[in-house]
Amino acid sequence: MEKADVVIVGAGPSGSSIAYFLAELGVDVILIDKSNFPREKICGDGLGPRSIKMLNKIGLSDWLSSSGYYRCDRIRLFSNSGAYFESKIPSEDTPYPHFYITTRADFDQKLVETAAVAGARVFMGCKAIDLVASGGTLKGVRVDNGGIIKEIPCRVVICADGTHGTFTRRTGIKCIKPHALAVRVYCANIKGLDDCINIYLDKRIPEGYAWVFPVSKENANIGVGLSCHMMRRYDIEIKGLLDWFLTEKATYPLDLSSAIMITDVKGAYLRMGYGRHKVLVDGILLAGDAASLVNPLSGEGIAYALESGEIAAYAVKAALDKGDVSSKALASYKDELDRHFLMDHRVYEFLRWLACKPKWMDRAIRKGRENPNFAAKFVSVMMSTARPTSIFSPEMLRCYLGP
Ligand SMILES: Cc1cc2nc3c(=O)[nH]c(=O)nc-3n(C[C@H](O)[C@H](O)[C@H](O)COP(=O)(O)OP(=O)(O)OC[C@H]3O[C@@H](n4cnc5c(N)ncnc54)[C@H](O)[C@@H]3O)c2cc1C
Repeated sequence: MEKADVVIVGAGPSGSSIAYFLAELGVDVILIDKSNFPREKICGDGLGPRSIKMLNKIGLSDWLSSSGYYRCDRIRLFSNSGAYFESKIPSEDTPYPHFYITTRADFDQKLVETAAVAGARVFMGCKAIDLVASGGTLKGVRVDNGGIIKEIPCRVVICADGTHGTFTRRTGIKCIKPHALAVRVYCANIKGLDDCINIYLDKRIPEGYAWVFPVSKENANIGVGLSCHMMRRYDIEIKGLLDWFLTEKATYPLDLSSAIMITDVKGAYLRMGYGRHKVLVDGILLAGDAASLVNPLSGEGIAYALESGEIAAYAVKAALDKGDVSSKALASYKDELDRHFLMDHRVYEFLRWLACKPKWMDRAIRKGRENPNFAAKFVSVMMSTARPTSIFSPEMLRCYLGP
């Protein structure tokens, strides 16, 4: 029977990243996923500067730049009134001031392959169904591997099963409910696509936004995401909202009037806002969306999934080396996540609330048109290449509040 020091449940960006870093550290690791890869994952497909930085660490930057994925160097941010500013992602805040739009089927497959090359053993079509414990001590994971129930003995289990995964519940940790819902569709025949990703704020999309992320000069991943709380409060039907965006919303300088949907509209929930539930118990860690690491303002989650993977790998390696995988021995994982995300996520939640005020955002967009430095810092905060508090710096406030 297969056994390992660590079993990772879920081979999305968080699981594959942990598997890669652990294998590089010489740890015996098994990565499993219930799906057979390549598999579709509902996503905006945007890899921002922080994701690209992590892919560089994983040795995938050449693959990314040579794979033909669409690259964007600028962001266009629209206010409720249709006014917009454009800005580059400032290079003083990141060595990777771009966006790539990939497909998750390819991207996640490449990450899994990279983890396997590093030494992780990978089992696809293998669903984790329960934890195995004896006398209160973790002994492994029970899996359904193509209809055959097996146990994989291990010392540490990582739950990287995403927002929709149900395996995390087996740990007894009560995760928060997903905060937001988003839907996306791929469209062809769009006019005006260039090297900008496009983000539309609108009072019809409270606590959310619509996006147009180009995948070619004519095709784009188009979607809309907003908080579940606002959907309930204003009785918003999200597919209807996307339909309105595609057919009625003024999107100039993009022209969606002849856009043709080339896929079905599909949606998924986002569990965002780190720090509201446990991320570890004895022998078990949660990573990526399972740890609610999606950015509460932007909905970006891939970067944090990859980052939590690296942080988890070092914490697990240190605990294994000490021969102690208790929650106390693994606590450096939570400490590091707190240091990276706790304060920032609270500030992003506040910014999400501010972004809901059309008058304030209209003013921010106007200021961004007038002052490129203001626009650039705004974009850095949205892309989380600058700390969110930097939006309240004296220069930013002077510009925003000035005439
Ligand atoms: C509509 C939408 C648009 C988005 N757009 C963006 C974007 O443009 N950029 C961005 O950075 N983020 C975006 N996100 C967020 C991003 O998709 C997630 O943050 C990211 O996928 C999290 O990675 P993960 O590895 O934690 O989880 P996932 O990618 O969800 O991977 C979890 C894996 O676990 C597997 N699994 C689940 N249960 C089990 C089990 N019991 N046994 C075995 N395997 C299991 C699943 O099959 C899956 O492969 C978007 C999300 C949505 C919903």
